[in-house]
Amino acid sequence: MKSLYFKFIMLTIGIMLLSGMLSFFISNTYYQQKLKPFNDAKNTQIALDIAEFAEKHPTTDLKDYLENLSFIGYQLYLVDTSRKSTYFGADFRVKELPNSTIDQVLNNEIYHGLLHFPQETFVTGFFANELRNTIGVPLTHDNKQYALFLRPDIKLLFNEMHILFGWLFALTIILSILMVLISTKYLVQPITKLTKATNSLAEGKFNVELDINRNDELGKLAKSFSHMASQLEQFDDIRKEFISNISHDIQSPLSNIKGYTNLLGKDELPSEDKEKYIAVINGEIERLSTLTKQLLLLSSLDQNEDIMKKKSFNVAEQLKELVRQYQWAIGEKGIMLSYSLPDFEIVGDPLLLNTVWDNLLTNAIKYNKENGSIDLAIAKKDSSVIVTFQDKGIGLSKNEIDRIFDRFYRVDTSRTHSVEGSGLGLSIVSSIIKLHNGKIDVISEENKGTIFSVTLPIQ
Ligand code: ADP
Repeated sequence: MKSLYFKFIMLTIGIMLLSGMLSFFISNTYYQQKLKPFNDAKNTQIALDIAEFAEKHPTTDLKDYLENLSFIGYQLYLVDTSRKSTYFGADFRVKELPNSTIDQVLNNEIYHGLLHFPQETFVTGFFANELRNTIGVPLTHDNKQYALFLRPDIKLLFNEMHILFGWLFALTIILSILMVLISTKYLVQPITKLTKATNSLAEGKFNVELDINRNDELGKLAKSFSHMASQLEQFDDIRKEFISNISHDIQSPLSNIKGYTNLLGKDELPSEDKEKYIAVINGEIERLSTLTKQLLLLSSLDQNEDIMKKKSFNVAEQLKELVRQYQWAIGEKGIMLSYSLPDFEIVGDPLLLNTVWDNLLTNAIKYNKENGSIDLAIAKKDSSVIVTFQDKGIGLSKNEIDRIFDRFYRVDTSRTHSVEGSGLGLSIVSSIIKLHNGKIDVISEENKGTIFSVTLPIQ
């Protein structure tokens, strides 16, 4: 697999090469369209100026004059009517020039070799050191007719510039590649770190440390990743705690059952004791059965699979029926129960909501005081119904309120010690209310009592 680092560098170099080629083509087109005619016109003017000077100064030594011009950066070729020719300045690489061209110039025509130099598409045509690649002008000196061919001596004119541009070009490329190497490392490094972190997460190591401090997308990704890792760690802790709680809650009734069945196996057991032991065993079996039912319900609520069977029903009726069921337990504890339950139709799952009321009412009984009281009420608010369970029981502290909806959480005080429970009831309550798009609020004060209020949408 080619690394992202390698791909990125290859891509950058590819882009550099491609843009180099494209700019070469574009500048060539510019040269052909604009610079070539301009260059031709400029050099024609220079050649004409030289010819004019020679004509106006017949006494000047023409050869000396042309020799001097060659020093300042021109290659010159002078030919007279008898085809006697002289070169000045640097040698032409190719010295071919048709006789007709020479005749043409001797006959006062200007030769535009620079403009018409053969179909070289590239700017390199400009550098072709050939006699045909010149400007030819007629020149009269001391009553003698000549043809003068001229072109700038590229080597002389451009030598230093070439070196300068060459260095500039090479340095730009080398520095760009170096910078790409460094900056790519900076870009790719966090990805490498994230990949390592993902691997250790997959191995179950949740405490990944990512020292990525940036404000760009990668920084945000690293932050989200760390957040996800800590969430997963939390879920993992919850899962472990859940399993250990379940194991404990199953294990303790099982040990009790085992202990009491052993006792039952003893000979000569008074029938009174026998009945007592059987009652304990039945109680523990009951506990296990309630626990498994609650766990099953929680798991189906968690999976959220069309568990809801909604219909319209009367909540007040349902609550009154529930009160009737628990009448004996309420009476046994000497609790005063009052209620204000006007008829009220809502749409929801009656079975699931019955579980909610059941849990809240049994809690209000279980965590009440001797001769305490419970008050149930239904009220309408906007498009919702509010069902409240108020008890004057043992109440809850602020910290306890924050945790009572956690699975298996039970307040462990001397007063709650003897009360039966699994700690799953309120988490089932909150899941069912959430499924109904409702909410549950708790107001409580230690030793004073608790109010649970459930708000449910009517429809
Ligand atoms: P449990 O099976 O223990 O009753 P729940 O999930 O129903 O489990 O309740 C969790 C804990 O919240 C209980 O153990 C109890 O300590 C506390 N609690 C619930 N309802 C009340 C209440 N009405 N008054 C005081 N404490 C309560």
